Amino acid sequence: MYNKNALTLLSKALAVLSDGFDELPPFEETKNLQVEKVLMLVAEKMKNNFPYFHPYYAGQMLKPPHEIARLAYMLSMWINPNNHALDGGRASSQLEKEAVREMAGMIGWKRHLGHLTSGGTFANLEALWIAGQLHPGKKIAASELAHYTHERISQVLKLPFTKIACDENGTMDLHKLEKLLKRGTIGTLVVTMGTTGIGTVDPLPEIIALQKKYTFRIHLDAAYGGYFRLADQLSLSTMRKFALMQKADSIVIDPHKHGLQPYGCGCILFKDTTVGKFYKHQSPYTYFSSKNLHLGEISLECSRAGAAAVSLWATQKIFPLSRKGEFSKRLNDSHKAAMKLYEMINAHPGFIALQRPELDIVIWAPLEKSLSAMSRSSKNIFKKAAKKNIHLAMLNYPAKLLPKHWKNIICDDSQVTCLRSCLMKPEHVDWIDEIWRMVVSCL
Ligand SMILES: *Cc1c(COP(=O)(O)O)cnc(C)c1O
Repeated sequence: MYNKNALTLLSKALAVLSDGFDELPPFEETKNLQVEKVLMLVAEKMKNNFPYFHPYYAGQMLKPPHEIARLAYMLSMWINPNNHALDGGRASSQLEKEAVREMAGMIGWKRHLGHLTSGGTFANLEALWIAGQLHPGKKIAASELAHYTHERISQVLKLPFTKIACDENGTMDLHKLEKLLKRGTIGTLVVTMGTTGIGTVDPLPEIIALQKKYTFRIHLDAAYGGYFRLADQLSLSTMRKFALMQKADSIVIDPHKHGLQPYGCGCILFKDTTVGKFYKHQSPYTYFSSKNLHLGEISLECSRAGAAAVSLWATQKIFPLSRKGEFSKRLNDSHKAAMKLYEMINAHPGFIALQRPELDIVIWAPLEKSLSAMSRSSKNIFKKAAKKNIHLAMLNYPAKLLPKHWKNIICDDSQVTCLRSCLMKPEHVDWIDEIWRMVVSCL
């Protein structure tokens, strides 16, 4: 699970870093003999985990950070910069500005206001907070398959929130949306570019067309799916949706989902840089070391891990955010793995898939006469597969959204528990046949 060479590299880099502080008189960190003992204890405790790093883990939305991300993060731990202000994170704030500019560049924005956050939740919170400032009293709307965080954030911000039904494609129902827009009460529409549950992408081209008739802002929740803008082997209709991301007013993308980062790295981007005025505040403690922009002046969170920015910057050096190159190839491979699994499910009489995967999430279930029997059977396979070290996930899907080819199954429940696989590791494309053989042996 790890490469010994990596630790040699880390100590080489640490020597370079410590050269930068040569002028200071040497001092010893207080020695504590417990460190080794406790660290071994931690290693023992951490064995109690699913093997997230291994291709056999094909369950939840978890993608291992790349080696460069882990090493750059660890290296910066010896400084432990705080990107709230240049006072606490001079070098790492600069790296954050550069890395975030590259993310905005991926969207096609030449100008932007944005920064990293601790994750997608906080990034979305900032987007909806600005939404509320710009359209006081107006509603936030999101599809019923949007992340539950939007409804909860709206509650926290005391903004009125409304849900829009999905159709059998698992995306926002455009007729229902237009009916709602006609009432003129929607201030900001949350468009999900890759739902967390099933990986579907809301119909952005049609939604943008509706902006000609009705006034509303568009916030893209692309926490999971945003990087797929760089993939060029998705279906044409999916790629058309990603191609229009630059039309949005604000965008959330999580580098800690598909961007090869350790947890603690989300990103919020605004197209209109003047929204910075809503962040204006005085800090009696910080912002003294430089007249340049301190990231805390344009973010709601105060202390933030500068290490997250260092790690993202370093990763983007190896994997530039471009349509050609290794990063985009890896995203294509994840989608390819999902398509392979989807085709094997379709070819097998004992299983049924929910729908063709738009990105890299596959939802399927053992075929039974009724929904309740399918739910039981899914749970069984989930358990049996885990015993063989194949780790899947599960999803409760609303019966009313099931597609036509499920219509012969007796609908005796309001939802059905399905199997869910997020095939986020590029290795999955080579391992999916073996994973499938093991799953089939659980029937
Ligand atoms: C993961 C996710 C979130 C929440 O982000 P965190 O990084 O888990 O806080 C929000 N929206 C979508 C679409 C997501 O996939």
